[in-house]
Amino acid sequence: AKELGGNQVQFFSPHIYAKTVRRMMLEKHLRKALEKNEFVLMYQPQVNVIANEIVGFESLIRWDSPQLGRVSPLEFIPIAEETGLIYSIGKWVIEKACAQNKHWQNLGLPKVSMAVNLSSKQFYDRSLCEQIANILQVTGLEPQYLELEITESMTMDVQVALATLNSFNNMGLQIAMDDFGTGYSSLSYLKEFPIHHLKIDQSFVKDISVNPTHAAIVNTIITLARNLKINVIAEGVENEADLKVLQDFQCDTVQGYLFGRPVGASEVPEIFAKFARE
Ligand code: C2E
Ligand code: CA
Ligand code: CA
Ligand code: CA
Repeated sequence: AKELGGNQVQFFSPHIYAKTVRRMMLEKHLRKALEKNEFVLMYQPQVNVIANEIVGFESLIRWDSPQLGRVSPLEFIPIAEETGLIYSIGKWVIEKACAQNKHWQNLGLPKVSMAVNLSSKQFYDRSLCEQIANILQVTGLEPQYLELEITESMTMDVQVALATLNSFNNMGLQIAMDDFGTGYSSLSYLKEFPIHHLKIDQSFVKDISVNPTHAAIVNTIITLARNLKINVIAEGVENEADLKVLQDFQCDTVQGYLFGRPVGASEVPEIFAKFARE
């Protein structure tokens, strides 16, 4: 690298160059990923710890690229959003998740909800409600078994968000507020939006047994949700100590490595069987 004085801007950086190349490669291959069938959905159980039973699964997308290996959604979803590819990828996720849930029901497995992550662009797509209605019709999945996860940052346009959420609610779908606590949505919106589930972000849950500040925040969220009659799901539960604190706070629904990592569809019947045995 060049010798530069204190505050001078460095125009050429090998690091930035590498990032640009990676980004170009990702975009190039992402454009073909859907037609080449390179996406996979993994499913992570959501567990009611009182009854010790599965109440739902969250679908989490993976991209297995022959050229780039497995790419995290944290890396490719933002690119999909910038390029507009998110519309077709997002539609594929909803189709796949609904068809899969219906398939499990047809196998005679207990009926549970299937949560799908929506991206902001998808959420503000005017044809989304109709698209979901079509997918439910084609797959035969009843609406109460599809749960849509949105984040606080997606509700910035309050009027449009409210209209869409009301439509979801009227269709009989479940709505979950994801990553709760990390955004800046006003708590008063919680009362106005038809939200059925609040997912407490894993950054607060993870160290709850050793971090009194996070414990206080989580306890407050749980109390708030209870008063608003919204169900709480704690994410990122990795150990018994954190689970114990959550149970002391009367949080009954949890998701995290302690109860199961995201798995492929073929492993789900065995997960149901395991919970039925316990
Ligand atoms: P998210 O919606 O907050 O999903 C939870 C993430 O935490 C998942 O990461 C999951 O594998 C991980 N996780 C679950 N339990 C634990 C735990 O106990 N410990 C730890 N350390 N991690 C845990 P993943 O699958 O890599 O997904 C990352 C993010 O990518 C998701 O965060 C979501 O924002 C986004 N994403 C995933 N699938 C989709 C999708 O189909 N569409 C859209 N738009 N976004 C998606
Ligand atoms: Ca989520
Ligand atoms: Ca989350
Ligand atoms: Ca997240």
